[in-house]
Amino acid sequence: MDYNQTFAKEVYEKVDSGDEIKVCMQCGVCGATCPLRGEMKYGPRQIWSLIRAGRRDEVLNNPDIMLCTSCYTCQVRCPRGVPIMEVMHGLAHYALAQGIVPRAETAKFGKAFWEGIYDTGRVDEAVVPIKYCLQDGLVAGLKKSLGMMDIGLALMKAKRMKPKMFIPPNIFIPGVHKIKGVKQLQRMLDKAAAIDAAKEA
Ligand code: SF4
Ligand code: SF4
Repeated sequence: MDYNQTFAKEVYEKVDSGDEIKVCMQCGVCGATCPLRGEMKYGPRQIWSLIRAGRRDEVLNNPDIMLCTSCYTCQVRCPRGVPIMEVMHGLAHYALAQGIVPRAETAKFGKAFWEGIYDTGRVDEAVVPIKYCLQDGLVAGLKKSLGMMDIGLALMKAKRMKPKMFIPPNIFIPGVHKIKGVKQLQRMLDKAAAIDAAKEA
C-alpha cells in the first residue's frame, strides 16, 4: 500500500477548504449523521484520518468522496465548524483533476450536469439525463435510459417532469433554450476553471 507522508500537506494546500480539516477533533458526528453512511466505506471522519496518515491512493480512489449529496447535515452539526461538504467535493474534484475517477457513474453525471449549464446557462431536467445516458454511445444510452424509466415515470407522477421534456429543443436545435448572456457566463466559467487548474497544478 502506498504511504505518502506529504499527502496531508498536499490536501491542505491544493484541495478546496482542505486546510480546514486541521481543526477536526475526530468526534465522529459527521459520519454518524450522514444519510449516506450506509453506502460509504469510511465517511468524512475516517477520510480525514487517512489523509493525516498519508494514504493518498486510498483517499483519492475512494468512492465515498463522490457520494456526498451536499445535504449539509454533517456541516451544521460539526462542533468544530469544519466545512465538511466543501472538503468532500474538493477531494472529488482534486481526484478527477489528477486523472483518478473514484466513482465512474457519478463522474459521468457530473460531466453531463456541468456541460448542460455551460452550454445553456440552465439546469434542464431532460438535457442532463440525455447527456448522461449518451456518453457511452447510442445503444448503451438507450439501454441506460430504459433502466432509468421508473425514475422518469415517478418524476412525471409527482409533476416534476413533463412528457415533452423527453425531447428538449436544445438537444436538436443548438441555440434554443439558452439564457441571455450565455457567452459571458462561459467566459466567467473558463476563468474560474483556469484559476482552479493553476491551484491544483
Ligand atoms: S463532526 Fe467535525 S470535528 Fe467531528 S469528526 Fe466530523 S469533521 Fe471532525
Ligand atoms: S453534506 Fe455530504 S458528507 Fe455531509 S452529511 Fe450530507 S451527504 Fe454526508
